[in-house]
Amino acid sequence: MEFEVESKGLIEELRHHGISERVLAAMKSVPRHLFVPVREQGDAYIDTPLPIGRGQTISAPHMVAIMCDLLDIRDGMNVLEIGAGSGYHAAVMAVLAGSGHIYTVERIESLALSARENLKKAGIENVTVIVEDGTLGLPGFAPYDRISVAAASPEILETLTDQLKTGGKLIIPVGKTYQELYLVTKTNGLKREAKGGVVFVPLLGKKGFRN
Ligand code: SAH
Repeated sequence: MEFEVESKGLIEELRHHGISERVLAAMKSVPRHLFVPVREQGDAYIDTPLPIGRGQTISAPHMVAIMCDLLDIRDGMNVLEIGAGSGYHAAVMAVLAGSGHIYTVERIESLALSARENLKKAGIENVTVIVEDGTLGLPGFAPYDRISVAAASPEILETLTDQLKTGGKLIIPVGKTYQELYLVTKTNGLKREAKGGVVFVPLLGKKGFRN
């Protein structure tokens, strides 16, 4: 496999950060270089975000890993992602969901098109990329076991918590320039846990920062 040495090095680095073996195995199976522009491929196995065009970025591998670990995605789950970007994070979640399905929403059509191509090249079949304003969720395929938001939101969005199953979990960065990553669990009410500071591109749209 191309980039095998680089990929192994990255997985080792993530292991030292305390990422679970389950998530490491999923990340090992998804070739990140297929999800970045050709000129960035040499850096695909460095633990850093990279530009993917239209002012957007593919998240750093440790961020994808941490979010997947916190969300605890299990076989058969119905998962929604807001902010498909390159499709990489969705691909890792798709491996974790196994027989389940990932619906990923992207507001920029050209990115959605390349995300679809990237997923195809990587042989991932259980992801559907949809061009929409994800601040409204995706009611057509709700309710979801898990929702993962990959852009910075002004608040924990009710449109999203409303589309979660009871027992479901949402992960969402909240804030403007710097954000706090929140894990929200829906039981009778909503349990919110702050999981540390992060930096994401803004979530734009009806319930986001601006249109
Ligand atoms: N998960 C991606 C990285 C996402 S970057 C990956 O693995 O590559 C955040 C993405 O969210 C950007 O592509 C941006 O266009 C998108 N985005 C921002 N606001 C959005 C909205 N309201 N609905 C859908 N996508 C949105």
